[in-house]
This record gives sequence, C-alpha cells and structure tokens, in this order.
Amino acid sequence: MYKSTRDNNKKYSFSEVLLKGIADDGGLFIPEKIPKLTLNQLTQLSDMAYQKRAVFVLNLFKTGFPKGVISNIVNQAYSTNFDTSLIAPLIHLKDNQYVLELWHGPTLAFKDMALQIMPLFFSKAIKKPNRYLILVATSGDTGKAALEGYKDKENISIIVFYPEKHVSKIQELQMTTQEGENVSVVAIKDNFDKCQSLVKEIFNDKRFNNILKSKFKTTLSSANSINWGRLVPQIVYHVSSYVDLIRMGVISAGDQIDISIPTGNFGNILAAFYARGMGLPVRKLICASNANNVLTKFLQTGVYDIRNRSLVKTPSPSMDILVASNIERLLYLLTNNPKQVSDWMNHLKLNKFFMVDIATKNKLKDIFYADWVSNIDCLKHIKALYSETKYLIDPHTSVAHIVAERYIAKTNIIKPVIICSTAHWSKFSRSIVNAPRQIKNLSRKKIIHRQKCSPKIESIKTTILEFLASHDNI
Ligand SMILES: *Cc1c(COP(=O)(O)O)cnc(C)c1O
Repeated sequence: MYKSTRDNNKKYSFSEVLLKGIADDGGLFIPEKIPKLTLNQLTQLSDMAYQKRAVFVLNLFKTGFPKGVISNIVNQAYSTNFDTSLIAPLIHLKDNQYVLELWHGPTLAFKDMALQIMPLFFSKAIKKPNRYLILVATSGDTGKAALEGYKDKENISIIVFYPEKHVSKIQELQMTTQEGENVSVVAIKDNFDKCQSLVKEIFNDKRFNNILKSKFKTTLSSANSINWGRLVPQIVYHVSSYVDLIRMGVISAGDQIDISIPTGNFGNILAAFYARGMGLPVRKLICASNANNVLTKFLQTGVYDIRNRSLVKTPSPSMDILVASNIERLLYLLTNNPKQVSDWMNHLKLNKFFMVDIATKNKLKDIFYADWVSNIDCLKHIKALYSETKYLIDPHTSVAHIVAERYIAKTNIIKPVIICSTAHWSKFSRSIVNAPRQIKNLSRKKIIHRQKCSPKIESIKTTILEFLASHDNI
C-alpha cells in the first residue's frame, strides 16, 4: 500500500513505513494511491472539530489501524497540550488574506502538528521487544518538537543533532534543557545541510546498522520530514483551513483558494500538494523562500542547482536549507518514474545539480508560484504589518506573507489566500519579556545537554554508540 520513490514494485504497510523512515533503496515512502475527498465531504468536515477532521483524513490513508485507535491517538495528540481547543485556528488578517496559525502546540512551531501525533502511531507500530533509536537532524524546530513527542516513550530513544550557531538562542535553549530519560542533544560544528547529510549517511550505512542491531537490539528511525509519518498529519491542517473558510461563509465547497507556505525542507508545502491531489480546490501553491532561494530558482526554471552556493544566515533559520529532501517525493508524483527520480537524485549528489525535462518543468510552473525574500525585507515587513494590523508575525511567517502579497498584487487575485504561520513570534525574538509561559520558563531551566561533536561520520557513530551503551538498561 506504500512504495518507495525509487522502486515501484516493493510494497510496505503504514507501520513499516513509519518504523523504517527511509526505504532500503535510499528512496522516500509514498502512498500507492492518493485518496479522494469529495465536495460533499468537505462541506461535512466544515461542521466538525479539528480532531474529527483529523480522524477523517487520517483514516483515508491506509494506516492499518482501526478508526477507534486512530480516534484515541488523535484525541491524545490534539488536546490540552495545545493552548487553543481550535488546535490550528484560521484567522482573518485583512482583505482576502487569512492566516493559518500552526504554532499553538507545546514548542510554539508548526512541527508540533505532526510530532505530537507521530510518536503515538510509532509506539503502536513497534513490535516489542524491538527497540528504536530516532536520529534527528534539525534546523531548529524539529529537534525540540521531536524531543517533546518522543520523550519517555517505551522502547524508543532519541538523539537530536543541531548545527551549532545556526539556530536561534531560544531554539537552542529549548533543546539543551530537554528533560527525559531517553533523550540526547548534540551540537555539530557545522550547518544544517551537513547535519542532515551526516544523519542520512548513518541511515544508509548497513554495517553500522547491523552493529546497533546485534549489540543493542536497536533499529534506527527518523523523525524528519523524510518520514511519511510527519507528512500525513500535515495534510490534515491544510484541509482544515479550507473547510474553515466554508464554515466562515467566505467560500462554498469547490471555490478555489491559494496557499502561501514558508518553505525549507519542502514538507509543509508537499502536504499541501497532497491535499490538492486529494481534491482540495487549490489554485497555486505559493512557495516562499528566504535568501537560501534554491527552491525559487528550481520551481521557476526546472534546474536544482547548489553549485557555488553556501548557506546564508537569515532571520528564518528553520528555512536555512539547500537540499530540500521532499523534492524527491514531488518529482515522483509529477513523473511516476522511479528510475528518472533516482537518476536526478544521484546527479544532485554527484554533480550538485540536476535539470528536469520540459514536461515536468511546465507542471512545476503550473502548480507553484515561487519567490524569495531578503533578510532586511523580512524584518522590515514584520514592523510594517504590525503597524497596519496590530498582528505580530515571526520571520518565517513574514517571508510567506511578503510573497503572498507580491502574488496578490501581480495576479489581481480576489479569492482567499491562506498564509501558513509556522512559528510564534516570541521564538525568534531576543526579548522574551512578553513571551508565553513555555518560553519564559526557559531562562530558569537547567542546561542538561552540552555535548558537541565534530562534523565527521566517525564522531557521529561514536556519539551514538556511547549514548546507547549508557542507556542500555532502559
Ligand atoms: C520547519 C519550519 C519551516 C519549513 O518547513 P518545511 O516543511 O521544512 O518546508 C518553516 N517555518 C518554521 C517555523 C519551521 O519550523
């Protein structure tokens, strides 16, 4: 029912996909078929609470879990751990602009939408006594959200690697003060792309994986958005935002909307692409990037090119990425050709670029609108929007809002545009004076994790082995 982007023949169950994280052939897992949503169903969903919408959408994807189990998991995942019972509220900003607030969870970033629920499915999928070690490379927000989701879960432990000096101070504090018996946080002296590529290398190292299995009965898995388990809960909120517009009387089922998404690893926007594939009437997916604008160029020209590029530091560190993993899934969905996808991915690895064919390039241009925002424009805009509306946004949301406004100006769009707001502003402010409780307490918390590691594969392996050795009794 699930397959790899690099092989059409082998089939996997949802539980296997969740536990494995990445396919043995190096590809990413995708469902064989995209389920459909009818306009009637969209109308029905508009009367439901977020949790009911989530159960409905998750149940359309073949999870292998009975609806009752899904329902229990959803009710546990989206509960008082969020600071609003709406979970992902859609608010009217001005004119035809609506903001989807995705940061009401425990870590104040949209990663909670997936990482509050994925570990619950993961725990259900485990066949005891097998043990799992979740390896995470984070550009800032995934790390904390994954630590919160996986802490103290039975038969699971987690190590988070983050790029030292490339995350915000608050993001770093959130991670280094993390409590839990089964967690570890390690700073890598390099940037996020390096962290991500080191972790990927570990996943693909058969010999090392065998050592972990024989010595510690432990299998590696991933909580990054290469794991399908991260993406499916994200499809839910895109559907939810659309049906909220129906509930608010702004649209009728079937009317088209546009969605603007601040993009890094291409997970959030890929989830929106899936929602569109299910039948959600989305005209354009607006891909908003910061100065690390590889995706802008790719979606406009069909050339993915990281030659002569190094990572630029921006006020939106969670988007400071050059190699966006989920592009691989997009390419599969557009071409249906695993051989072609493997070739492009290998070309990127070897030559630091690849170029798609004309048909694929035209599809990209048809579906996406892409643009990017400079550091200075991003920061100025936060102030300007606040003066105008008294609504304060974080730098990631600012990138998405600027690009949405440029799109609106260019196309004269009068239909609703949804702007995904991916983090609460306080997460990226130097001043925490007016910040909510979760952030205020940070300054009083004890720093537990001080470990640093050089960006070398051998050092990462030693770190993992030492961690497992010291936690062997858990
Ligand atoms: C992770 C993150 C993004 C980028 O999302 P992707 O799914 O990686 O494209 C944007 N904003 C914030 C605040 C994030 O944490």
